[in-house]
Amino acid sequence: MGTKYQEFHRRSIEDRDGFWREQAALVDWHKPFGQVLDYAKPPFAKWFVGGEINLCHNAVDRHLKDRAGQPALIYISTETGEEKTYTYTELHAEVQRMAAVLQSLGVGRGDRVLIYMPMIAEALFAMLATVRIGAIHSVVFGGFAASSLATRIDDAQPKVMVTADAGMRAGRAVPYKHLVDESLRLAATPPQKVLIVNRGLDKDMPRVAGRDVDYAELRAQHLDAQVPCTFVESSHPSYILYTSGTTGKPKGVQRDTGGYAVALAASMRHVYQANPGETYFATSDIGWVVGHSYIVYGPLINGMATVVYEGTPIRPDAGIWWKIVQDHKVSVVFSAPTAIRVLKKQDPAFLKKYDLSSLRHLFLAGEPLDEPTAKWIAEALGKPIYDHYWQTETGWALLTGLPGIEPHPTKFGSPSFPAYGYDVRLLHEGTGQEVGADEKGVVAVVPPLPPGCMTTVWGQDERFVQTYFTSFPGQQVYTTFDWGIRDQDGYYFILGRTDDVINVAGHRLGTREIEEAISAHAAIAEVAVVGVADQLKGQMPMAFAVVKDPAKIATPEQRAALEKEVMGTVDGLLGPIARPKNVHFINQLPKTRSGKVLRRSIQAIAEGRDPGDLTTLDDPVGIQMVKDAVSGK
Ligand code: ATP
Ligand code: MG
Repeated sequence: MGTKYQEFHRRSIEDRDGFWREQAALVDWHKPFGQVLDYAKPPFAKWFVGGEINLCHNAVDRHLKDRAGQPALIYISTETGEEKTYTYTELHAEVQRMAAVLQSLGVGRGDRVLIYMPMIAEALFAMLATVRIGAIHSVVFGGFAASSLATRIDDAQPKVMVTADAGMRAGRAVPYKHLVDESLRLAATPPQKVLIVNRGLDKDMPRVAGRDVDYAELRAQHLDAQVPCTFVESSHPSYILYTSGTTGKPKGVQRDTGGYAVALAASMRHVYQANPGETYFATSDIGWVVGHSYIVYGPLINGMATVVYEGTPIRPDAGIWWKIVQDHKVSVVFSAPTAIRVLKKQDPAFLKKYDLSSLRHLFLAGEPLDEPTAKWIAEALGKPIYDHYWQTETGWALLTGLPGIEPHPTKFGSPSFPAYGYDVRLLHEGTGQEVGADEKGVVAVVPPLPPGCMTTVWGQDERFVQTYFTSFPGQQVYTTFDWGIRDQDGYYFILGRTDDVINVAGHRLGTREIEEAISAHAAIAEVAVVGVADQLKGQMPMAFAVVKDPAKIATPEQRAALEKEVMGTVDGLLGPIARPKNVHFINQLPKTRSGKVLRRSIQAIAEGRDPGDLTTLDDPVGIQMVKDAVSGK
């Protein structure tokens, strides 16, 4: 940890106002703010009080002066073969058309617009148009089941829904509009209008007269639309985004406008070291927080071109992302460990095939980055790899290196240090006292949370306080619900979620530690460990592993031999106390649509209980495999 980093972080906490006042100069204010922070009602923080701002103005309009003809949005679909670049001028025109269409459907300041879209340019137009007119978007990841969508509709109560006939995934059309119709039948408070971007992918798309309207038709009526930005007070909500639902009922994370704009602008410099005029490629989806912050707003606020990619990382082949980096001179790629593990099963030669000289570094987030995966991608790319840690709630990184401030050596498996603005503590679960170096604690933040973080749970202020600020009696601190540890050098490591801890005969073990140990075995590609009830020991770990080469476990004897070997690896690294009761080999782990392993459901099945809500599940095959493995099929 270098002195520049330390000084930067220290100042962000000790001279909070001065620090953030400086960062706020990175964005355009329609009317300057008075107070930097209003913290009269903890834990509710209001940033840049009295300032008037518009996200869309900052992302688009303000760049017209210097970058009118520069690329703003690079749309690439390897599913349909389309590729189209929009300059800032073109993006400005498209956003105004979409804004005019939304207004014609009755959307105004404070109204919600629910966006259920595949990765197409129109999805970004819709998001930008919504905030342009002071409305609030709620993007729901395309492909969520109808019931999940209905729950979110009833919570956000949108005036209009924007969707498409279909998306495409791995060469197949995935109907969206069908699913929207089903969700609207289930919803208690369906919106009056559904705006459809018809891509011509679903010939049987149903239409409901009076409710459904066609975007192309309406756009044609508003080609020359001039829709000025509605400037809003800094704390006006920009959007609602529901958490992934890995651990329970999704929470409607509400974000402000001014704080978010400033946080993103600052992060583009200090965290990502990304410069205006360059190209940024986040491989996520607009349905997730990474998509909001780093496909849409961050790069555009920073005057960059952003890549909007529809497709998988391995079609037409595993070189596609790196071809995009070469073709569009991408300087920063932001992806997730789950995607890198997909690449890891492919030939690494694909990563060497293209000219990556424009690429400065790769950032990863979303789940623990295991050491073998980190090493593999670092070697394959020959570029610095940064793991960083954050949540839907925080909107941007909580633990990260700051290459834009001072480069530092990374440690495999560590997302490095607290980001500026976050007063991070590791607290003992029981006493709430700070733990020492190399001791496990809950990752917590002393409020106020910095700009960009959630301001409340949509419509439920009480739930915001209850959920996030009451874990430690006697002190109001924000809990991340993740375990962490800090080593002697100040590097943090995330050990898993607080509900992912196993108690084996009185010993508390993080599932992540056991997963790391199992991953160290050369045959293992991916693994999930859960705790299952055990009469003798209270709980025992049980592992579900995916092997790199299924041919090596073709026979029951081979499986038994590998299971033994894996157990031996765990014994060697963590001791026999952590040895799993069983290591089941399956072809695929059950994951959410965002690529997170559904440990909660795996655990339920392993204990013979109902797996619960599976609506965020990506592919039911994984769950079936767990069921079969447990029942010995
Ligand atoms: P829900 O809160 O609804 O259960 P979720 O926590 O999966 O869903 P997200 O906000 O998308 O929803 O995920 C944030 C979580 O992802 C973090 O709390 C942490 O558990 C995990 N995570 C994110 N980045 C990292 C990282 N770099 N290393 C380890 N874990 C990470
Ligand atoms: Mg969470």
